[in-house]
Amino acid sequence: MPFAQYHGNSRVVTALRGMLTSGRVPHALLFAGPRGMGKFTLALQLAQAANCERLAAVGDSCGECGTCLKIGELAEPGPLIERGLESRGASPDTATVERVPLILQTHPDVWLLVPDPVRLRNPVARPVLRLGQLRAVQRAAQFVPSARRRVFLLEGAETMAEAHSNAFLKILEEPPETSTLVLLTAQPDALLPTIRSRCLQFHFAPLGVAEVERVLNEHKKMAPAARRLAAQLSRGCPGTALGIDLEESRRLRRDALELVERAAGGREFTEVFQLSAQLTKGEGLGFENLLELFYNLFHDLLDAVTGVSTPALRNPDLQGEIEALAKRVSADWVGRAVSRLDALSSGVRRNTNRQLGLDSMAAALALR
Ligand SMILES: [Zn+2]
Repeated sequence: MPFAQYHGNSRVVTALRGMLTSGRVPHALLFAGPRGMGKFTLALQLAQAANCERLAAVGDSCGECGTCLKIGELAEPGPLIERGLESRGASPDTATVERVPLILQTHPDVWLLVPDPVRLRNPVARPVLRLGQLRAVQRAAQFVPSARRRVFLLEGAETMAEAHSNAFLKILEEPPETSTLVLLTAQPDALLPTIRSRCLQFHFAPLGVAEVERVLNEHKKMAPAARRLAAQLSRGCPGTALGIDLEESRRLRRDALELVERAAGGREFTEVFQLSAQLTKGEGLGFENLLELFYNLFHDLLDAVTGVSTPALRNPDLQGEIEALAKRVSADWVGRAVSRLDALSSGVRRNTNRQLGLDSMAAALALR
């Protein structure tokens, strides 16, 4: 996909194109920013542009030549991961996991490494980038590319264990001119400073609503109003906007708002609890997302209570309901609700029972 079809973070794009056209591509780049912000998409475009058969001179990719198409297949890594894990058997031992590293490849010069979950079913505790994977990169980075540049994309770079960072630093010691590593992470602070400092860092910022709309327009068939709403709800994250189920999102946010309404109305706890139980059952919605949904509701509610007009409402489709509720609560009440939410949020990080946490918040809100 040519760079022109990439929206947002134009300064990063311009810098990458400048490196490609000048022929000075660094050995290690770090793409940092929240999930779904387009880091992987742009890294893949960089790999295509570095090897495209047609547009090399202008530092871009055509997206249509054999090389571009092959590299582009990495955009859907799911089946490749499945095949890689299957090839090691259902429950491989540690030695096998290191000996047969999980490497995703659709073109000889471009590798994608993702944190290894070890098993297809019942993945082990936390998928991490393994020593075997890093060693494989270390060896392969020395090879002469079959096209022009070997590009290694490392997803979840922060999962690299401290003990293995030497293997990674070795790759950078005497790097051949023709290899580039792109580290991708949502938590740059979790990376070792020694690794971070060896990379040229790029931080990906949230996109404007109009930019997210343009991404949606190119990748998904949607009515204009739905497209706008999805862009508004995504908080500048095109990955979120593309994956959002508007109906489901609205249902969940309405349920959460109803919980807040009942709590504000001092209704019986049992009733509020039933509703919170329904919410935590919400399929595919992580508790972190549920908390964020409440934060966003309180954010809009506080704006409505204090009469601040915000250009970017977080729940533009619930504006009427939120304004009605704002007439019944005080800014003080919203403030208390938010501090309860903060307590709940830190409880989640300490693994407090989630349903209990949500119940206690509902109860605390009902205490006027
Ligand atoms: Zn091409």
